[in-house]
Amino acid sequence: MSAPRLEIDLDKIHSNSRCLVEALAARGVSVTGITKAGLGSPAIAHAMLRAGVTSLGESRVASLARLRQSTVSTTLRLIRSPMLSEAERVVEHADISFNTELVVIRRLSIAAQAAGTVHGVLLMVELGDLREGIMPEDLATTVEETLRQPNLTFAGIGTNLACRSGVLTDANNMAELSALADSIEAQFGVSLGTVSGGNSASLEWALSGADTGRINELRLGEAILLGRDPTNRRPIAGLHMDAFTLVAEVIESKVKPSMPVGALGESTFGVVTDPQDRGNVHQVLLAIGHQDCDPYGLSVTLDLSISGATSDHLVVECGEIALQVGEEVRFEPNYGTLLRAMSSSCVAKVWTGMGVVPL
Ligand SMILES: *Cc1c(COP(=O)(O)O)cnc(C)c1O
Repeated sequence: MSAPRLEIDLDKIHSNSRCLVEALAARGVSVTGITKAGLGSPAIAHAMLRAGVTSLGESRVASLARLRQSTVSTTLRLIRSPMLSEAERVVEHADISFNTELVVIRRLSIAAQAAGTVHGVLLMVELGDLREGIMPEDLATTVEETLRQPNLTFAGIGTNLACRSGVLTDANNMAELSALADSIEAQFGVSLGTVSGGNSASLEWALSGADTGRINELRLGEAILLGRDPTNRRPIAGLHMDAFTLVAEVIESKVKPSMPVGALGESTFGVVTDPQDRGNVHQVLLAIGHQDCDPYGLSVTLDLSISGATSDHLVVECGEIALQVGEEVRFEPNYGTLLRAMSSSCVAKVWTGMGVVPL
């Protein structure tokens, strides 16, 4: 089989999705499956949908277009604020988009009128992580203005935590979102379809037995795909952490000094190494590098240590495990590595499970 390759087990993605859908259903919370690390892969989308996720979310319009053109049939959400320049494509490919800027919302309305469609707008609220979001005190005026725009529906509100600053989901920020939902409904006489309480980082809170209040949806990517809690990278009980495996092949296997020979400048990727002289080590090169993955986002069950990486090489000390040329090494990717491996045309994708073998 060709290397490097990413092996993708759709059965494990399905099983993880089902576990989370069921656990959250008991709390009155539905799941939007976030396929962005899978680049809008219809196979991953189907695995999630068969497990009961109620809609799909993507941060890029191109990935939504891919889903739209596939056999996937569900509500598609653009979870990154649209670029002003892509309003027409957003209206074409997304049923709902997440928004924070009135200038964009007005443009979406114009695009929806031109296309003869109705587009859903969900407003994101800033609750402290300081990435996207309308300041809570400005929410009411944005709602008022959104409700005035032709060919738009007001789909709900949501928030995003943990991604930029690591702010944790807790009773306070979730109670604030619930209170905003109540006050918007009271003020405008509307009923909010979705109150979206965040991403995988909100899972622990949602499953803790805490009062979920008005929160009726979470957007889950990493938890479904990698089975880990992104706030501490700990395994989530009952989930598979190896739905994705990145496989690379050994192209050189030699005993070399641990200490470079000669004066040292910057290396290709600018990392200033502080090498220690540990005598001779058994070092292998794998044919995979920054172009294919985040080399520091690879974990391996064997007793190997990653000691360097360039565009196309991964340098690994293999200690007692004398890896030979032609042997393969299997890694579990973290989220960043998964994203890069999925995006790289240099990494083959090998699909298993669900009886689906996509190209
Ligand atoms: C990426 C993203 C998600 C999914 O995050 P995970 O940690 O992978 O669950 C949810 N919402 C928004 C706005 C995102 O950008």
